[in-house]
Amino acid sequence: MNPKSSEQKSGQVVLPGERLGVIEEFIPDSGTYVKDGVIYSKIVGRALMDLLNRRVSVYPLIRGAIVPKVGGTVVGQVGHGQSDNVLVRIFKIGSKKLSGVFTGILHISDVEERYVDSMNDVCKPGDIIRAKVISEKNQIYHLSTNDKGLGVVYSFCSLCGNLLEPKRYEMRCPKCGYIEKRKTAVDYGQEEL
Ligand SMILES: [Zn+2]
Repeated sequence: MNPKSSEQKSGQVVLPGERLGVIEEFIPDSGTYVKDGVIYSKIVGRALMDLLNRRVSVYPLIRGAIVPKVGGTVVGQVGHGQSDNVLVRIFKIGSKKLSGVFTGILHISDVEERYVDSMNDVCKPGDIIRAKVISEKNQIYHLSTNDKGLGVVYSFCSLCGNLLEPKRYEMRCPKCGYIEKRKTAVDYGQEEL
């Protein structure tokens, strides 16, 4: 063990996965994780080695940087999808817009209470969707739209790209008349972007 090398690292900018020390040397604090007795940084930030209290922590480089949290609401754009899931580029957490973009995944079983046959009836690439983060397992944000306040908030016609309007249980394109399906939020069309 060489405390001096750790001391020199204090104040430096570290990256996720960067080695900060060992548990014999330090107590891991916020912004760190431990694997096989070695302490690593969990985030991009400034390492702080508190030699007096033998604690190591990493402070986010961007003050108050926001990341999606389990239980929180996010807004994102629907990206590539398969028959049973779609990827969502998250660009808003709560009411805060993000500089960085996180990726979430919405699985067909988390769309709503009742059985959903196809992701095609839920959302399409390009749509804007509001969802709740239900897990961040393996650093992937798993999303749910299972609430009347959650779901698609803006959607676009598959034929002409025009903004779709809700019409009873379907969505209708006011420009070309095409009709398709979505799982919309109750306040469809009102999200501030
Ligand atoms: Zn259209």
